[in-house]
Amino acid sequence: MVESSMSGYRGIGRAVLERHGAGVWSDIELEAAQGTFRGLVLPRSETADDRHIVLKLASGYNVGIAAEAVTRITVLGRREANYKLPEKQFPHSRTKPNVVLLGTGGTIASRLDYRTGAVIPAFSPGELYGSVPELAAFCNLRTESLFSVFSENMGPRQYQGLAERIAEEVAAGVDGIVIGHGTDTMHHTAAILSFMVQELPVPVVMVGSQRSADRPSSDAAINLIHAVKAAAESDIAEVMVCMFGPTSDQYGLLHRGTRVRKMHTSYRSTFRTIGDIPLGMIDAARIVYFRHDFHRRRPERSVKLNTAFEEKVTILYYYPNMKPDVVDAVVDKGYRGIVIAGTGLGHVNKPLYPALKRAVQRGVHVYMTAQTLWGYVQMYVYETGREIMELGVVPAANMLPETAYVKLCWALGQSNDPEQVKRIMLTPVCDETTAREPYNGYLVFQGAIPEVQGFLRSIKR
Ligand code: ASP
Repeated sequence: MVESSMSGYRGIGRAVLERHGAGVWSDIELEAAQGTFRGLVLPRSETADDRHIVLKLASGYNVGIAAEAVTRITVLGRREANYKLPEKQFPHSRTKPNVVLLGTGGTIASRLDYRTGAVIPAFSPGELYGSVPELAAFCNLRTESLFSVFSENMGPRQYQGLAERIAEEVAAGVDGIVIGHGTDTMHHTAAILSFMVQELPVPVVMVGSQRSADRPSSDAAINLIHAVKAAAESDIAEVMVCMFGPTSDQYGLLHRGTRVRKMHTSYRSTFRTIGDIPLGMIDAARIVYFRHDFHRRRPERSVKLNTAFEEKVTILYYYPNMKPDVVDAVVDKGYRGIVIAGTGLGHVNKPLYPALKRAVQRGVHVYMTAQTLWGYVQMYVYETGREIMELGVVPAANMLPETAYVKLCWALGQSNDPEQVKRIMLTPVCDETTAREPYNGYLVFQGAIPEVQGFLRSIKR
């Protein structure tokens, strides 16, 4: 709720608005050093600086203008924006599958509260149906907000809570589960859930959005439509990520939970399957499976639940000239597992060898993954790799570093015996290691076909 027409404005920002008879929700034309802007004066966050005036332009984008650069403001009217979402009863049909949407937070669950500058959840089925009515075509939807965090704050407690909740929902008879999640660490959660909840009989589809629903280019609605459809109708009974495919709003991609990664800070088409091809593509009309080796829907109502998790595990991202004291420090602090993201085929420099040997001798479990992300660590090829293996470092094939990290947490939660931990680590649960990688996946699925073709046309010209 906006408290006053100056909500959030202090100092010079407030003075300039007052001088021109303008305030929050005034529709103004403003002239400044950079040019002329027409827009609605937005409330300022209580914690924001006092030097800027923020306008919502007709394009839907917000712009902040330095108050001291303003030379003229003409007030054209007043339009108070209403950010309350319409609530409509989500329709129920006896013939439609039942889907539950479990919210954990992130941009997908948010819209901006301009007063506090915070993002607040907009999450009831009624609110979702009010803003994305297409969802009702696929299912009966129930929603529940489990957590309300940005995904950097997800951790073992949340992973365990989600895993247990999935098991309960399956037992209660749900036909598909959607998990709303911040995009930044969605691939960590997708991977750990793939290990914690096995033998799923229904799809568990993780979804997020790169841009919040109040932005014109938001991907929230389209991702949600695809994810809900995948949960309701797809035959893939696995943990997967459903996010924007190509850069335009054409289709979504379904990615296996252990082989997916966020690859761009701001593009909507940020999630990519690494080391493989995606499971399929999806739009509002159809699901096209790219492969057929997935676990299928089954009528069973149980899962294999194992929520073990050891927190004393870390990733060391190797860089040239890394010093051995980094490894020693981790061991001294009581870490039980280290995943190295090594260079090339799985290498680190020679000065690290004695520290790695000490780590292994003190019972620390050390695994090697590749910084290149695509391809396998192959530690027999160079002398370096052979020597590192002799120290007791275990190559983790083509497991992604983040996947190896959460898997090692899971494995060490179950055992401390090096052989048993190795067996858990190297026995694939859900394609976290694969026998081969497709030669063309690396090239084609970095951009999806229209972009690749467009790129080739542009360089031939
Ligand atoms: N920082 C946010 C998060 O990961 C970004 C997002 O939701 O896309 O929670």
